Amino acid sequence: VVDYKKGEWVDPKIIPFQNISVSPACSSLHYGQTVFEGMKAFRAPNGDLLVFRPEKHLERMNNSNRRLCIPEIPAEYFYDAIDALVKLDQDWIPNQEGCSLYLRPFIFANDPFIGVKPSSAYKFMIFTCPVAGYYKGTVKVIIESDFVRASPGGIGAAKTGGNYAASLLPAKLAADKGYQQILWTDSKEHKYFEESGTMNLMFVINDVLITPSLDGSILPGITRDTILTIAKDWGVKVEERRVSVEEVITAFNNGTLQDAFGTGTAATITQIAEIHHNGKDMVLPPVAGRTLSNKLNQTIVDLKNGIGEDKYNWVHR
Ligand code: PMP
Repeated sequence: VVDYKKGEWVDPKIIPFQNISVSPACSSLHYGQTVFEGMKAFRAPNGDLLVFRPEKHLERMNNSNRRLCIPEIPAEYFYDAIDALVKLDQDWIPNQEGCSLYLRPFIFANDPFIGVKPSSAYKFMIFTCPVAGYYKGTVKVIIESDFVRASPGGIGAAKTGGNYAASLLPAKLAADKGYQQILWTDSKEHKYFEESGTMNLMFVINDVLITPSLDGSILPGITRDTILTIAKDWGVKVEERRVSVEEVITAFNNGTLQDAFGTGTAATITQIAEIHHNGKDMVLPPVAGRTLSNKLNQTIVDLKNGIGEDKYNWVHR
């Protein structure tokens, strides 16, 4: 826990997991001035404790903070807290493949003030919890063409509560129909893909790895960046650009849609089995034949677990 009062971050401390008290007028409860991150710590075969790309999470957190008028988190608080917590809670990292310690850094406005304005008090906290291996399987998804998650100029690129609030109802309606994820489309015409509920989105068409460009309404995923870097390094043709629903349907119809998958910290890569649109299902090729996404997934999972060469210096020990 670190408090922001009178213009500075003060009094960092580690306390046991417990409830915290806030005023009923606590401004973040009403106006959503909140930011969070999601990270994981792993145990390497030699026992080392590893966190993947913490500097990227801090960078995104401070980008989110700027958009939400929240003071930036000094790097030393962030890194010291991560190091201390992972060390303290290392026995909670289960000694099983896929298991890790989840780290949830978050900040919320803590002014007991009824007007709408940036708060003058904040709390920055990180809690941890052990997480089991993420469900490894494919998802059935539906293209969303009624609701909107975010639009250019809005808060879509920030990791803030409001974006997730906007997605609850559409995600529930999709789940009621048997779809585990929504594929968001642009707010103007529902013509171009944006991202999935909690993942960025990638397609492989004609051996080209294509992902929607970051236009301000998509969360800049750290897994997305990791995958693009590695794929380019492997000589894969990569395109960051607008991808239309029409383009993907055409590729499916002419047999050139080889793969579609979501990317995120939770599962690294989640392959899509079926894409539903306007009463029709596009059934994608079997997962076993999706060489690129299978290889990317294994490479990144290994890296996070301290296996293989850490060529980019992404693993923090
Ligand atoms: N988009 C959204 C909306 C998300 O919640 C997440 C998960 N943080 C992602 C994309 C993927 O981001 P990352 O790879 O950094 O986990």
